[in-house]
Amino acid sequence: MARKLALVGIGKIARDQHLPAIATNPDWDLVAVVSRNAQVEGVQNFASMEKLLMAGLDIDTISLAIPPQPRFDYAASALEAGLNVMLEKPPGQTLAECHALEALARAKGVTLFATWHSRFADCVPEAKAWLASRTIKQLSITWKEDVRRWHPGQDWIFEPGGLGVFDPGINALSILTEILPYAVHLNAADLEFPSNRDTPIAANLSFTGPNAGKFSAEFDWLQEGPQTWDIDVETDDGVLKLSNGGATLHINDNLVKQGADQEYANLYARMAELVTTSAIDMDLSPMVHVSDAFTLGRRKVVEAFEF
Ligand code: NAP
Repeated sequence: MARKLALVGIGKIARDQHLPAIATNPDWDLVAVVSRNAQVEGVQNFASMEKLLMAGLDIDTISLAIPPQPRFDYAASALEAGLNVMLEKPPGQTLAECHALEALARAKGVTLFATWHSRFADCVPEAKAWLASRTIKQLSITWKEDVRRWHPGQDWIFEPGGLGVFDPGINALSILTEILPYAVHLNAADLEFPSNRDTPIAANLSFTGPNAGKFSAEFDWLQEGPQTWDIDVETDDGVLKLSNGGATLHINDNLVKQGADQEYANLYARMAELVTTSAIDMDLSPMVHVSDAFTLGRRKVVEAFEF
């Protein structure tokens, strides 16, 4: 029988991805939404999380599609009420918030899922399998997109806790931490902050790891024209290129797979698996790199940014 779900925050990602993915998954029955501004037809609409929780609906899962800044309070109240919780990325503003949510979920015996949608891109499993038996000499991430196109008017992204260019960059780091056969750690970062904003608009990162491999990432939010979401890996036995955010795979310059966009369908399928055993999936490794970049990063002030 389908599980009853409530979706919180009816904004860009809820409309682009969550609502269509839920509608096509027979494991889920969307019975309610929480929105301060929007209405969704065919379900119960609540103006706040408190009103949803007070209504005593027969739901067992909450999916949060809101920005990271308010997420902790929403997630904590749902967990306190004994509900399973699915978190959009990043799972919180800070690592400590995420640890606190995980402890609460354990205490309540419910599922908590820190989703990393890019990990569920079509070619990520193949890339991981191919790299597992090879020695990596060099890996470079190039994540360059146009913030005005993908986040029009979203001022929260430039406010403390909004992560700035790490909002898309953490998607690359979620793939990195999934496909590497071992852990690497950040050893240098340069961060560019617009003079009128509190989060960076560009970042260059380098990491250190085993086998003298060189690992780097370049994030830029001012790229107009073609958008770039690539990971290039040189190994002792050939080269791999993941592009389109993990949807396309080339090995030794030959196209291996041109995948479909299944990320959110896969996320809701994974959540359906987790709730059957009240399991917790809270891998915070992508966020550790972001947190380290803010700790270790050299700050450069650049031109002011307006949408
Ligand atoms: P958004 O459209 O700016 O905001 C989503 C919704 O969250 C808003 O419509 C609003 O819903 C609610 N909200 C905003 N500020 C809030 C606050 N202070 N307190 C409570 N609710 C608030 O953002 P988005 O692009 O959907 O991103 C939401 C999350 O999804 C972020 O963590 C982002 O990283 C992630 N994400 C975004 C994309 C993308 O392409 N944009 C892709 C993947 C993941 P109501 O008006 O309904 O209350």
